[in-house]
Amino acid sequence: MKPLHTEEHPRGYPLLGIHHVTALAGDPQNNADFYTKVLGLRLVKKTVNFDAPDVYHLYYGDKIGRPGTILTFFPFPNAARGKRGVGEIEAVSLTVPVSSMGFWAEHLSRHGVAFGGPARRFNEDVFSFQDPDGMRLELVFTEGAQGRSHWSGSPIPGDSAVRGISGVTLMLADHEKTARLLVGTMGFTLLETRGDRSRYVIGEGHGRASLDIMTQPTLPPSRQSAGSVHHIAWRVATDEGQRAWQETIAQVNIPVTDILDRNYFQSIYFREPGGVLFEIATDTPGFTIDEPADGLGSHLQLPHWLEPDRKSIERTLPPIVLPL
Ligand code: ZN
Repeated sequence: MKPLHTEEHPRGYPLLGIHHVTALAGDPQNNADFYTKVLGLRLVKKTVNFDAPDVYHLYYGDKIGRPGTILTFFPFPNAARGKRGVGEIEAVSLTVPVSSMGFWAEHLSRHGVAFGGPARRFNEDVFSFQDPDGMRLELVFTEGAQGRSHWSGSPIPGDSAVRGISGVTLMLADHEKTARLLVGTMGFTLLETRGDRSRYVIGEGHGRASLDIMTQPTLPPSRQSAGSVHHIAWRVATDEGQRAWQETIAQVNIPVTDILDRNYFQSIYFREPGGVLFEIATDTPGFTIDEPADGLGSHLQLPHWLEPDRKSIERTLPPIVLPL
């Protein structure tokens, strides 16, 4: 990577935090049951993988799927589990209020979800557990979490509900080039290193998100399948900002895709030097572009270019019974 100059950083268009995290899953019904019943998120969009429309793309979030609350999955029924290793997102952290620890201990146990913790990390308590496909999740008991939005229609009481994604942990073979991209180009700040974990932060106020890096030089590369995180998307406000970021990433000699129309946002993708797939996604237009806020997630939505194939797509996809 060539040396970074300040003019490469599009300062008028800061990254605002996390937009969404996308992972691979197995059975779609198990996925929907876990994320709506156990974690209490709303299924805000039932669509397909635009690049492979025989697979669902399920989006969960708060009432309208605000950026920062969105977890998305490509569920492949009967998929084998992924193999952990370097070059991947090792865990995804969700924010919950500090006062909700007793609730979550009881709730996870009642649903048969084994969890570790509370463990103390950067002055916060953390529960660690896995989703039905082995994806590693964490609940981070966070001061001030109440101020962040949540889905009030869920089975979880409002004062305990998940308040979006607080951050992710990357497992890498080497830290240095990734750190240079994060701080020198993308606008992250190194907050602190404790033991083998370095925490970088981006965004302000309730939008602030963390990216932790852990390094394991001797670990083999990960192999992605069910239970693996596929990518993380960072937020940018506008299409204009998106174009600026596309130029900026290209200027630091990292191959970056064209701007892709994801119907609910516009996206570019690139791989950070440690091997993790990054996306930058726009805040607009959002999930109410093709169905009303009250009915989000109730019907299979397709982008206009797949609408002619709706019948055959619907025949291919297994049914999902919404638990709510
Ligand atoms: Zn994405």
